[in-house]
Amino acid sequence: MSVVAFHTVAQDQSDPILGNSEASRQAYRQAMMQAIHLVAPQTPFTQGAYSGAGASALQKLLDGLDPCPKVGTGVAAALADIGKPAVDHALAVGDPSSMAHLHCPVAIPALAAEVLISATNQSLDSWDQSPFATMVEEHVLTYLTSLAGLPATASGNFTSGGSQSNMTALHLAAEQCGEHARSSGVIFTSDQAHFSISKSAAILGFSKDAVVKIPTDAEGRMRPEALETAIKQAKHQSRPLVAVAATAGTTDLGAIDPLEDIAKIADSEGIWLHVDAAYGGGLLFSRHRARLNGLEKARSIALDFHKMLFQPISCGALLLANAADFAPLATKADYLNPEDAVFADAPNLVERSFQTTRRSDALKVLMTLRALGRDGLDALIQQTLDNTQAAAKAIEAHPDLQLARQPSLSTVLFRYVSPNGAERADAITLKVRASLFLKGTAAVATTVLDGRIHFKLTLLNPRSTPDVVTHVLDAIGNAARELETDHARA
Ligand SMILES: *Cc1c(COP(=O)(O)O)cnc(C)c1O
Repeated sequence: MSVVAFHTVAQDQSDPILGNSEASRQAYRQAMMQAIHLVAPQTPFTQGAYSGAGASALQKLLDGLDPCPKVGTGVAAALADIGKPAVDHALAVGDPSSMAHLHCPVAIPALAAEVLISATNQSLDSWDQSPFATMVEEHVLTYLTSLAGLPATASGNFTSGGSQSNMTALHLAAEQCGEHARSSGVIFTSDQAHFSISKSAAILGFSKDAVVKIPTDAEGRMRPEALETAIKQAKHQSRPLVAVAATAGTTDLGAIDPLEDIAKIADSEGIWLHVDAAYGGGLLFSRHRARLNGLEKARSIALDFHKMLFQPISCGALLLANAADFAPLATKADYLNPEDAVFADAPNLVERSFQTTRRSDALKVLMTLRALGRDGLDALIQQTLDNTQAAAKAIEAHPDLQLARQPSLSTVLFRYVSPNGAERADAITLKVRASLFLKGTAAVATTVLDGRIHFKLTLLNPRSTPDVVTHVLDAIGNAARELETDHARA
């Protein structure tokens, strides 16, 4: 029975599982070439940021498509049926007018690495499932901890991203803080911190009032004196001081908390300092490393490489100043890392992670760093920062737009100014965002600042040059003016 089914599949593909047979290698090469031609066709397609299809139009493409037919179609047909629309209706992250979120275009060396990562399918939960990949991760982490300025006792582990890094750090901080950490402890973070801090606290079983949000200055940076006041109050209430979670690069404003001042306060109170550098950590690979001074005093650091470092999702790391702080995650499993070490000199990375089965994402970081080098990375990042400064100038010069803040990293927030008032501007802003996306003109974001809806551009693509930005700003202005006219007519 199963033999018959296998022969049916085998019509266009003699061996569907990648292995040592020449037939399976041939099938792999063919499928990969076909996939590559979908992503990078010989004739350039100038699609823009998005095809413009709405959700119901996309649903129609899937209606009636049997997800698992009795007789398989073979890989060539599956690529045509599913692979093609998946590329055609993807957000084109490599397009310069894709500038909505912290969602980067991807570097070619990392994509080459992804081919190796998926085909070799190593799993980092034990050394015998990932012999060289384990060593690669350790090698990259050693480099990253020294780049961050952490001491020789430092260690780390690759994660799915900032959310997981933040959650792991807060778990470890709670574990070292003692038994009342979760029932009455406090985590200090700024009112601009990423929502994953609060979400992690909830998941980790902290009390509802555990996260204390420290006010920020006009640029979105935590106020150190407000932190001191909040700590004093928590001490007065005899609550355990679990962690200060500072942010290096807030998601909206790109604000970098005053890390040196915060580190001093955390140190004098003996509080665990976590720095969420998911976004701003990218500066480590640029000439602006000094803007992160104080980072080296952190006890834990979250870094994301799928934000400023051009890595395909997912790719983040958690760094710890003291490897010993990973101890609470070091459970023993008879089948993975038994008490009596099987491979005496091999690291057991499962002892540092929430995850068990885990991808070898460090390989793509290593290949990218080697291929582009420090100068190459610095040039790319600098270009994005320059583009953002130029965008701010263009916004300032635009008659319908008002810059909200001078940019700190690669995000820029601005208001559309309506002759019909602020409420009208809010409504138009949301409509313009949707209309540009559904026309395929550009992907831009909106967010709330000072209680009002703002446009937000995130310029992670070095090719989002001033020309491109000006084009998008004009499209915003034109779309908004049209909506004003419609309003006046109605
Ligand atoms: C993106 C982001 C996160 C979340 O990281 P993921 O990789 O999306 O899980 C956390 N903190 C900050 C500051 C971020 O910008």
